Amino acid sequence: MVRLPRRPLVAGNWKMNGLRSSTAEFSRIVEGARKLAAVDLMICPPATLLVLFAAAAKGAPVLIGAQDGHAERRSYHHETDADVRAKALAARRAGLCAIVCVGETRAEREDQRALAVVGTQLDGSVPDGATAENLVVAYEPVWAIGSGLTPTPSDVAQMHAFIRQRLGLRLGEEGQGIRILYGGSVKPSNAKELMHVANVDGALVGGASLKADEFLAIASVYDQQSRNIG
Ligand code: PEP
Repeated sequence: MVRLPRRPLVAGNWKMNGLRSSTAEFSRIVEGARKLAAVDLMICPPATLLVLFAAAAKGAPVLIGAQDGHAERRSYHHETDADVRAKALAARRAGLCAIVCVGETRAEREDQRALAVVGTQLDGSVPDGATAENLVVAYEPVWAIGSGLTPTPSDVAQMHAFIRQRLGLRLGEEGQGIRILYGGSVKPSNAKELMHVANVDGALVGGASLKADEFLAIASVYDQQSRNIG
């Protein structure tokens, strides 16, 4: 079987940012997205804006996501890997695709435990029978979220290769099609460097996704790369 290259996904996580007036910024993203044909774009607005944004995105090339599974849920709400897996399964039952976030803390990386920690999170959080249609994995080092810090490209390469291998061992050929995003202080200025890393199939963007120009600049980096490969 010839497997097609994984189509990149750039997802913007707005968390609880945004008011009704933010629909204008979202509309700018929608307009820009019409020019990007080789990348999937998604915005995850706060629950308060979901209905509004879903209506504004109707027929447009921007997917709408809802947010619930992030490192902050694990730390502030004590969610376990089993909780994350149950939510991913519930999403699948509802015909949705779940983005499961994994990532180590600063202390865990300094203790050389990053791979072990992420391996355990993956094993516990990814449901059996996961496919490219119902699951995306996001590697988000906790210490890189909102901090302006990013791991080195070689650390990202090592982690993404490890995740890819682990998905393959667990899910066989299906694991090769699952997209692995990098998240944590992604900006237009570092998007290219991160995109070139093997097994980085897109980005999960927080702060920079709130500004249409920045989000679209990141997305166009992946769009260009995807066109070059395709
Ligand atoms: C996030 O909130 O998931 C995130 C990655 O944020 P930022 O891009 O701002 O680090």
